[in-house]
Amino acid sequence: MNDKSSAVPPSGGPVDPAEIDDLVAANRILADQGVLDGYGHVSMRHSGAANRYFLSRSKSPAIITADDIMEYDLDSNPVDQQGRLMYIERYIHGEIYKSRPDVNAVVHSHSPTVIPFSVTTVKLRPICHMSAFLAEGVPNFEIRDGFGMTDLLIRDNRLGRALAETLGKKSVALMRGHGNVCVGPNIMTAVYRAVYTEVNAKLQAQAMALGDDIVFMDPQECGLITGRKDLNFDRPWRMWKERIGAK
Ligand SMILES: [Zn+2]
Repeated sequence: MNDKSSAVPPSGGPVDPAEIDDLVAANRILADQGVLDGYGHVSMRHSGAANRYFLSRSKSPAIITADDIMEYDLDSNPVDQQGRLMYIERYIHGEIYKSRPDVNAVVHSHSPTVIPFSVTTVKLRPICHMSAFLAEGVPNFEIRDGFGMTDLLIRDNRLGRALAETLGKKSVALMRGHGNVCVGPNIMTAVYRAVYTEVNAKLQAQAMALGDDIVFMDPQECGLITGRKDLNFDRPWRMWKERIGAK
């Protein structure tokens, strides 16, 4: 067990500044879209070193700049802290990158419309074509299982590991009474999934208020959508960047 290691890990090396700009944009886009509020964070795996990731210092996502981005190892030890305050829940990111080699970006949010689905027996299910990725199922992390009474925060690698186990091979996991995590093979996809998890939750709650005879997406329809070769997240990404005034 090396959860509290204070060893300073070496850097994975420099990356293209455009990648860091994308991580900054992701923070600002998710704030602009109402997915991240004053809290929550988004990270990106180091493109040249799979055992390192980038995450902002502890700061609200809407005001993050490239200078705030810090590098971590997968135990979430900072490479060069420079006295900067770090997110308490950074272990979410490190442990997901450890268990999911296919994941290169992680969003942890408290996106509000999703939370009711973490505290009721109502399952979050895909209700429109944009959220077909939810068809694989959305597990719910119950921190009381195994950890008893906590403040619900993912404060160490042990908790991060348990959350990563609940996520398994899925794209989204809820965190009971707290929020959710959305992952993707790249930052555009992770952001897209975080936005449309919130959108789906809103639409599902609205449909449920109208009646209980809801026609959800069929798994086969979802498979035809997620299997599309021409699926393109670049279009909304460029629009979202435009909205926040990014390059
Ligand atoms: Zn949180």
